[in-house]
Amino acid sequence: MELDSKIYVAGHRGLVGSAIVRNLQAKGYFNLVFRTSRELDLTKRYQVDEFFRQEKPEYVFLAAAKVGGIVANNDYPADFIRDNLMIQTNVIDASHQNNVKKLLFLGSTCIYPKLTPQPMREDSLLTGELEPTNESYAIAKIAGIKMCQAYNRQYGTNYISVMPTNLYGPNDNFDLESSHVLPALIRKFHEAKKNSVPSVEVWGTGEPRREFLYSDDLADAAVYLMNHYSGNELVNIGVGKDISIKELAQKVKETVGYTGTVEFNTAKPDGAPRKLVDVTKLNSLGWEAKIPLEEGLTLAYAWFLKNIDKAN
Ligand code: GDP
Repeated sequence: MELDSKIYVAGHRGLVGSAIVRNLQAKGYFNLVFRTSRELDLTKRYQVDEFFRQEKPEYVFLAAAKVGGIVANNDYPADFIRDNLMIQTNVIDASHQNNVKKLLFLGSTCIYPKLTPQPMREDSLLTGELEPTNESYAIAKIAGIKMCQAYNRQYGTNYISVMPTNLYGPNDNFDLESSHVLPALIRKFHEAKKNSVPSVEVWGTGEPRREFLYSDDLADAAVYLMNHYSGNELVNIGVGKDISIKELAQKVKETVGYTGTVEFNTAKPDGAPRKLVDVTKLNSLGWEAKIPLEEGLTLAYAWFLKNIDKAN
């Protein structure tokens, strides 16, 4: 990409898209286009076609998707498969019709089989059964990867797919019902501190291990790969290190400055014992995560205070 290239970031208000916009702007890219979902409904083919015809973007970051936690995924599987298939099909095909030079498709590590060996390698795609609770979402994302590969093969396009690990950062979902563990813990410890509650409930045993990548790191990797990687194979984006939920709870507790105790509610599910991506390929392409968890937590908590808990 040149600094004056016209770049479309689909999903620019989300956790991922907003971080990509910040990263591009910080690097001096100034010819960015984006639309809110109200201005442009990506599930409507005619709207997407008209947008691409008018704007003629040269590069596309496809970070628009219908996303949600385990409960939402489990309760609304039809919405997840339909909306995601429509959004990505419309954007990928309009990109081809309008001669986009390069497109980056964002997937998710839930595309990998439920019982795949850890850390999860790119070549474990389609080697086993998926986790049933988010199968609709995962199948849509797998279709997106396959669509990019098929377009590359049939039409000679340059569409790449990246699979980020668990992300956190500004514009995250902090709703306790539907959020992932990290934003949930920020909210729980914060509210307990504010209301002088003596203990905080953390779900499960605290033993499961997860990997957490700050959204600005993901964005930096995405922009890096847009500039330095072309190929049909997926690339995982992660830090290559995991920590236990117990350790995470301790770190969030310290970040928030909560002084009470932590209680593990083992009536709640642990989920997968471990989720970590193999980042050998990403590292060999010349990129490594830079933002340590402690720093990312401080940034995420500051964003939470400013934007979610406005009363603080
Ligand atoms: P997962 O990575 O798909 O399993 O999704 P989550 O991020 O929701 O959960 C990761 C782990 O954190 C699981 O073992 C949860 O039981 C645990 N956990 C502990 N406290 C919480 C919480 O308040 N919210 C969520 N979502 N998970 C929690």
